[in-house]
Amino acid sequence: MNYTKHILSKSTFVYGCQCPKRLYLHKFRPEVRNEEDKSQQSIFASGTNVGLLAQELFRGGVNAEPPDAFSYHLSVAKTQQLIKEGANIIYEACFNYNGVLCAIDVLIKNSKKWYAFEVKGTTSVKSQHIMDAALQYHVITKSGIQLKDIFIVHLNNQYVRRGEISVQELFTKQSIHTQVKEQQKFIETKIEELKKVVADRIEPVVEVGKHCESPYPCDFTDYCWKNVKVQETKSEREEYINKEYLNEFFSELQYPLFYFDFETIMPAVPEFNISRPYQQIPFQYSLHIQRTKGSELEHKEFLGDGVSDPREALIKGLLGSVGNRGTIICWNKTFEVSRLKETARDFPQYRIQIYEVIERVVDLMIIFRKKMFYLPDFNESYSIKNVLPVLVPELSYSDLAIQKGGSASLTYSELKNQTEEIQIHQRKNLLEYCKLDTLAMVKILEKINKI
Ligand code: SF4
Repeated sequence: MNYTKHILSKSTFVYGCQCPKRLYLHKFRPEVRNEEDKSQQSIFASGTNVGLLAQELFRGGVNAEPPDAFSYHLSVAKTQQLIKEGANIIYEACFNYNGVLCAIDVLIKNSKKWYAFEVKGTTSVKSQHIMDAALQYHVITKSGIQLKDIFIVHLNNQYVRRGEISVQELFTKQSIHTQVKEQQKFIETKIEELKKVVADRIEPVVEVGKHCESPYPCDFTDYCWKNVKVQETKSEREEYINKEYLNEFFSELQYPLFYFDFETIMPAVPEFNISRPYQQIPFQYSLHIQRTKGSELEHKEFLGDGVSDPREALIKGLLGSVGNRGTIICWNKTFEVSRLKETARDFPQYRIQIYEVIERVVDLMIIFRKKMFYLPDFNESYSIKNVLPVLVPELSYSDLAIQKGGSASLTYSELKNQTEEIQIHQRKNLLEYCKLDTLAMVKILEKINKI
C-alpha cells in the first residue's frame, strides 16, 4: 500500500488551532521547547490509564496501535486490513486522509453501521474535545468510513467505587454528532491554513497573550515570553493594619492551638473503595501544637504508605491528636473543611467526631484575604507562599526539594513505583514540605501578634 507521510496529526492540528506559531515551533524548532513540566507528564500518564480502561467497555476488539510513535503508517495499514477482514471493534483505529493523520480510541461496526468513540479523562465534554472529534470525523469519513455517530466517553463524577471498578458505571458516553458536523467547514479551511504554515517554513508572527495558556498551556512560553517585560510593579495599596479586627481574631483563639494542613491526591480513576473520579484524597497532614501561650511547639504528622487507602488511618490519627478542645488553625479552611466533610461522608463511623472538629476550625488566611493586615510587599496576594517571605524571611520553601502542593501530590502518587531507597528519600521530602506549611502559620501568627 502506498503511504503518504502525513503533514498534520491531531496534536499538531490542535496546536495550530491554538496558535500557528506553536505549530511551526513544534515542527521546526523543537530545541526551544520549555523544559518538560513534570505535572504535564502526570496528566498524560493518567489519560493513558483512562483510555486503556475504557477499552473494557468494548470488549473483544483488535488493537491497531503502532509499535512506536514513528510507525503510524503501520497503524493506518493495519486499520485498513482489519476493516477489510470484517473486524467489528478496532482500538486505536488510524487513518490518513490527504496528509492529515488521526487515530480514534474505538471504532465499532454494528449492523453494518460505524460508530466512533473518543475517550477523555475529564468528567464532562469540553469545547476542545468537539474540535478534536470534528477533525477525527473529517479524516475518518473522508477515508471512506461513514460514521453513523461519534461519541465522547468521559468519566462519570457521580460514580462511587464499591469493590472492583465497574467500567460501565465509571464512564458516560455522550453523542457529539451534531456539533461535530457543524464544524466540518471550519475544519477544512483550518487544515489548508495550517498545511500552508508547514509548507512555508516561516515562523508566523504572533503576539503572546491569553491564548498561550488556553485551551492548553503552550510548551514554548520560555521562548516567546523571554523578551516580554515583566512588570515589577509594587502594589499601590498602602500598608493597612486593622488592630480591632486582629484583636477580635486573637480573642477567639483557644488553647491548645493546632496548626493544621492536608496534602491530597486526585486520581482520575478511583483507586480506593468509596471514592469517586478526581476525588481529593488526603494522604498526609502536619500538625503543630501549642498547648499554652508561649509553650514549646509539639509536632505530629501522618503520611500514607503510598499504596493503601490512607483516609481511615489519617482521620483516626488526626482525631486522636486534636482531642476535643482548642482552636484548629488552617490556611484557606475551605479546603481542609471540604476534605473533612468528604471523609465524614465516606467514613460515617467518624462523622460526629469529624463535625465536632470542623466546628473548631478557623482560617488564618482570612486576615490576609480581607486585607485586615496588608503590606505593599504582599502584592495583592494572600497565598502563604507570598505572605511568608515578607513576614518571616528567615523561613523559606526555596531550600526544600518539594515546594508546591502539586509536586507533593505527584511525588506521593509515584511512591509505589520507586525503589526503597528513593521512597525513603521522598517520604522525608514530603514530611518536610507539609511540616513547613504548618510551621509557617505558627510564625506568621506570632509575627502579627507582635505587631
Ligand atoms: S507561547 Fe504563545 S505565542 Fe508562543 S507559540 Fe505558544 S501560544 Fe504561540
